[in-house]
Formats: sequence, C-alpha cells, structure tokens
Amino acid sequence: MKDIIIIGGGPAGLSAAIYAKRAGCDVCVFEKMSPGGQVMTTPEIENYPGFVGTGFDLSMNMFDQVKGLNVEFEYETIDRIEKNDGVFYIYSADGKEFTARSVIIASGAKRRLLEVEGESEFTGRGVSYCATCDGNFFKDRVAVVVGGGNTAVEDAIYLSNICEKVYIIHRRDEFRASKVLVERMNSIEKIEAIFNTVPVAISGTETVESLVVKNKITNEESVLSTDAVFVAVGTVPETSFVSDMVSYDNAGYIQTDEKCMTKTEGLYAVGDVRNTLLKQVITAAADGAVAATFSAEYVQNLKL
Ligand code: NAP
Repeated sequence: MKDIIIIGGGPAGLSAAIYAKRAGCDVCVFEKMSPGGQVMTTPEIENYPGFVGTGFDLSMNMFDQVKGLNVEFEYETIDRIEKNDGVFYIYSADGKEFTARSVIIASGAKRRLLEVEGESEFTGRGVSYCATCDGNFFKDRVAVVVGGGNTAVEDAIYLSNICEKVYIIHRRDEFRASKVLVERMNSIEKIEAIFNTVPVAISGTETVESLVVKNKITNEESVLSTDAVFVAVGTVPETSFVSDMVSYDNAGYIQTDEKCMTKTEGLYAVGDVRNTLLKQVITAAADGAVAATFSAEYVQNLKL
C-alpha cells in the first residue's frame, strides 16, 4: 500500500508529489496523458515567478524535478475511488486495483464544448480545442477563436503568428482576459474582435469552411468564411471517477477546507478541479504544497 496516491500530473499534482516525497511518504502519481496537464500546451508562461518560457518547458522542468526525487509516476486512467476501513481503493480503467492511505485528486479540468451544430462532426477537421497543438495546420489561412478569457486571447495571439487572419468572437462587449493580454492582442492588426456574438453552426464539406454567427443584440445571423474554429470557452472539472466522496459547488468543482481536504478524511483536492477563485499555475502548485503537507501529516498520524 502507498502512503499517498496523487491522481493527475499537472502543476498541482507534481507540486504535491514533491512535497509529499520530501515529507518522507511513499508516493505514486497517476497521469492519463502527459505530465503538465493543460499547461503543457500553453504557448507562453510569463506569470509564474522565476520562469519565463513555454508551458511545455515548465511542465518538463517540474516533471524532471519529480523524477529526480524518485517519485513513482505511472500512466493510468483512473476510473473509480472507494474508501473502506480507512483504506483508499483506486481502480484503473483497465481493471487494476491500487491502495493508499491518502489520495490527492489533481485531475484538473478539460475544455468545455461549444455544443453547436457541426462541432463534433468537424472536430479534427478544422474544429480544435488546442491552438498550440493544431495551429500549424492553418498556416496562411483563416481561423476563428471563440471565447473571451485568457485562453481565447492567448490562442488568438498565438495563431496570429501563423494564420493570415484571425477572428475572435466573444458573447459580451468586453473580454474577461487580463488587461495586459487584451492590450497585446489589440495591437495585432491581423486579429479582428467581434463582440456580442455567438456561434450558431459550423459547416463545410470535408473540412470546416464557415461559421454561422449571431449578433446577440440585433439577432442577425451572418457567415464567417474560415478554415478553422478554435474553441476556448472555458473548462469543466474532471471528476467523473470521484462520485459522492466529495461535495461539489454549483459548477461541479470540488469543495475543500483550508487544508484542501474534502468531506472524506484523507481525501484531498487541488488545482483546477477544486473550487478556487483563481486558476493559475502558481495557485495549482500552491494547492499541491498545502494538500501534500496535510496529507503527509494525516498518514503519519494513522501510523502512530
Ligand atoms: P474562462 O476564463 O472561464 O473564460 C471562458 C470564456 O468563454 C469567457 O469569456 C466566457 O464568456 C466564454 N464562454 C463560456 N461559455 C461560452 C459559450 N457557450 N459560448 C460562447 N462563449 C462562452 O476560461 P479560460 O480562458 O479557459 O481560462 C480558464 C482558467 O485558466 C481561468 O481562470 C483563466 O484565468 C486561467 N488561465 C490563465 C492564463 C494566464 O494567466 N496566462 C492562461 C490561460 C488560462 P463570459 O466572459 O461572458 O463568461
């Protein structure tokens, strides 16, 4: 049995791993894709003190630090967690069973879908949820970014280095993204912002050819010719494997106390899956440190 199992290898999970290992615990991290989580595909990080560079490099730095501490890191998709007689049972999607004295949920969040006509049909054929992964397919072509948060604005800036023209459509008349990013975007001529507008349908033949949009004030519909639609309308927490061992806020994020502990003793939640007010790499890493410190204390008390 492990002392602590951490589910998720993004900044929150990797930070938790560092703190838990250094507190003397036997730790294992489970990650279903690649270390770094959402940060892995962030084009540029410039608000994490002591580091300026790509999300990929920051993720790899964190991962190398964790490996350097000899933390066990396994590629597994976790399907279910249970707690019986003080022991956590963790089941993987392919039927493996693991046990731990304490569990830290660091599963993050995934991109929210637009839920308009044509979205699923054209996913991978012009519809994308990752500008850094797919932007290069649209060199010298036209792209539309949907959304008004930091991700959408960063995506538009990133795509402007590749595409001939970038539209960003937002449902309100003001961006939610930070001022510095909006100002940077506004200085790029290739990017055209369209406000008070929502997508209605994505169409094309083999690949995306156009996006039908509706102005929310006039209710008028119009057609934007485009080769790509990048969806950046926020995130939804990854909690499918957790069940009722935790309580959730109205948006589905896990509620915790100040130690990042959920309503189940020994079960912690950190980073983007938790109902935090600010979702940043630094707040995720801070959550990991807090949860691991108190999870380690919880484990040590169990062993007394
Ligand atoms: P977000 O901040 O939640 O923004 C989502 C955007 O999509 C909002 O502008 C929202 O409009 C719009 N939207 C939501 N549902 C929509 C729909 N169905 N149709 C059209 N538009 C829709 O999400 P995010 O940009 O992915 O960022 C997630 C978190 O990560 C945030 O806390 C963000 O600050 C953080 N983040 C930080 C950085 C950075 O610091 N550099 C970079 C990336 C992400 P409304 O504005 O009207 O609600």
